[in-house]
Amino acid sequence: MTQSPFNLLAIVAVEPAHRVRCQQPHCGHSVYARIHIVEEAGELLVLGSDCFAKRYGVASTTNFSGFGGGGGRTLTDAEREMLLNNTAALLAKFEEERVHERARIELASAQAAAKLEALRQFQAEQQKQPVSMVPPSHTNSWQREAMSAELTTQNAVQLPAWATLKKSNSSFFAYGMEDGQCWVLMQSSSHEGCFIAPVPMPFEAWDEALPLSIGKADLARNVYVSKLNINTLTSWFSSRCRKGSRIDSDAIAIQKFAENVAG
Ligand SMILES: [Zn+2]
Repeated sequence: MTQSPFNLLAIVAVEPAHRVRCQQPHCGHSVYARIHIVEEAGELLVLGSDCFAKRYGVASTTNFSGFGGGGGRTLTDAEREMLLNNTAALLAKFEEERVHERARIELASAQAAAKLEALRQFQAEQQKQPVSMVPPSHTNSWQREAMSAELTTQNAVQLPAWATLKKSNSSFFAYGMEDGQCWVLMQSSSHEGCFIAPVPMPFEAWDEALPLSIGKADLARNVYVSKLNINTLTSWFSSRCRKGSRIDSDAIAIQKFAENVAG
């Protein structure tokens, strides 16, 4: 078995203004991109990609997975100095970086796995005792974190104010308009007619956006109060809507639809 005559250690690059000299005998070119650092018979060589290919009869190094990868990482000024004066030290620095990076990745994945396991345990405990939200004293910080995340989610599921005006067992009808405005219609729980709310929130001059024939703005509740029935209103809005519509009895789904329309 013959030993490989060389060992490609790294492919690097420097700024064009700081080209380095190719060390292939009789070459004399200066190179800046895809500089190959090679170990041959215990010596380190800095070669341009053409000379590398000529010297070793290797046409392509695109599969190279060592330092710099196939493209050739651009060196900092300090690293370029090292390349010129102490190539071995530069390679040692690369090796150190690689060891650090590997350790960092291993640590991060170990932490992620532990966090996931803590969350899984916490959820399993929650299912056993669904009413208890008080953190037991033995929980660790990850479990408490998971618990407070759960509480935050519950708080976020507060319904928008307009959602409370809808007649029960009816639906919300949301319409996205050309200008990104969105309106949600609902049958009223308190009068013979409907409410029309600007969603996801009241925009500027919302109270002047709809004609009086449709309804009257109620500035206290941020809705139009309409005497028209839902069928009249849905046909008025659907003929004008350009950004889609959505029918849902879930106010949160309607709110999300409106947020997407608003972009
Ligand atoms: Zn050369």
